[in-house]
Amino acid sequence: MAKYTESKCRLCRREGQKLFLKGERCFKGVCAFDRRPVAPGQHGMSRKKVSEYGLQLREKQKCKRIYGVLEGPFRTYYEKADRMKGITGENMLSLLERRLDNVVYRMGIGSSRAQARQLVTHAHFTVNGRPVNIASYQVKIGDVIAVKESKKDNKYFAEIKQMKVGAMPKWLEFNPETLEGKILANPVREDIDISIKEYMIVELYSK
Ligand code: SF4
Repeated sequence: MAKYTESKCRLCRREGQKLFLKGERCFKGVCAFDRRPVAPGQHGMSRKKVSEYGLQLREKQKCKRIYGVLEGPFRTYYEKADRMKGITGENMLSLLERRLDNVVYRMGIGSSRAQARQLVTHAHFTVNGRPVNIASYQVKIGDVIAVKESKKDNKYFAEIKQMKVGAMPKWLEFNPETLEGKILANPVREDIDISIKEYMIVELYSK
């Protein structure tokens, strides 16, 4: 599978904001963006006037990078959102939020979406009792996401069992003791705490 090979911290510097791609490291004093909040490269300090197209492009790149989705699949999310009722940009974010790797991250099992994706692709989870190892799997209301019985005693998940549940999006519940979570609703824009101007992505794709 194709993936980004560029340094994750470089992506934050390129987008001019923290994208929180590295889990706990992002909250410590070692964050590369905190230390050097300018674009990478020789001309990183220079200020250029950015065109409307440039701004729209940056919003799209930011969103792709936050969710770890490549261009082709990302455009498919947009096209699917455009066919749905409601506001296209918000539909698109809702679809991205409902990816299984994002749900695992939101439940607090992975410290970053990248780590959550790895846990999913390494076949640690079931959805409604059936094994699923596809990071992009779309969950729906009522789905029960659980750590496989055979994996529950491994060291990593044993530590998760001791975890205190932090603030959880209201469309989701998670019980660390049983390592099970449930989808209570479809996420709406106010539930999604990412700093993206999704309407600009829609403007870009609808040209
Ligand atoms: Fe971005 Fe996290 Fe790296 Fe900071 S530590 S630059 S937030 S990926």
